[in-house]
Amino acid sequence: MSSISHNLQAVRDRIATAATAAGRAPDAVLLLAVSKTFDAGAVAEAAAAGQHAFGENYLQEALDKMAAVKSLRPDLLLEWHFIGPIQSNKTRPIAEHFDWVHSVDRLKIAQRLAEQRPAHMPPLNVCLQVNISGEASKSGVAPAQLAELATQVATLPRLRLRGLMAIPEPAATEAAQREPLRAMREHLHALRAQGLDLDTLSMGMSGDLEAAVAEGATIVRIGTAIFGKRHYAD
Ligand SMILES: *Cc1c(COP(=O)(O)O)cnc(C)c1O
Repeated sequence: MSSISHNLQAVRDRIATAATAAGRAPDAVLLLAVSKTFDAGAVAEAAAAGQHAFGENYLQEALDKMAAVKSLRPDLLLEWHFIGPIQSNKTRPIAEHFDWVHSVDRLKIAQRLAEQRPAHMPPLNVCLQVNISGEASKSGVAPAQLAELATQVATLPRLRLRGLMAIPEPAATEAAQREPLRAMREHLHALRAQGLDLDTLSMGMSGDLEAAVAEGATIVRIGTAIFGKRHYAD
């Protein structure tokens, strides 16, 4: 087994164990393989091992990689999720090339994605990124503004608001990790109680997968545990 397929199996096992411990079905949690900084060959290798959904943070890198994967493996039909910060002048290629966007945190971005989503494509699945740890440097809508933004985004055409995404501040213990993740779950429940039809909590990375599944994550975004340590070029 290659290390990517070996790692993928180990991550699937972690998800299944955490889901079972929480009384949840393992298939209620979608594994999103975060392939940023890794090349098309790594994506093709993961796909050959049965991985279907891939997450990318940097637009140009993602577009180049999608094209390269297509030429390597024209038979593959993969699902692509944009999970990085969004500049408003970069929304069109996101609307044209992705199946999901997890990092919408303001109305202007959502409006542009709605206008630019091609009519022949299915609606773009959208999550609102919440700044759940209140960090000044992090993107995400403040919890106090979440309900208003969700209500507005839910009315936009060509988008389907699916739920919420967060990148909590790292914490050392599982108990500390669970606090912001639990708050995310409560925000999702509150929005559903207001009548919004939401089914997605995108949370959990390599270091807090178990805590996220325990708190109800329906998508975990895993990079390092599948592909290894990232090396950034300057
Ligand atoms: C890089 C990244 C991940 C994956 O993180 P790992 O710790 O490598 O699993 C998940 N979500 C977002 C938004 C990321 O930028």
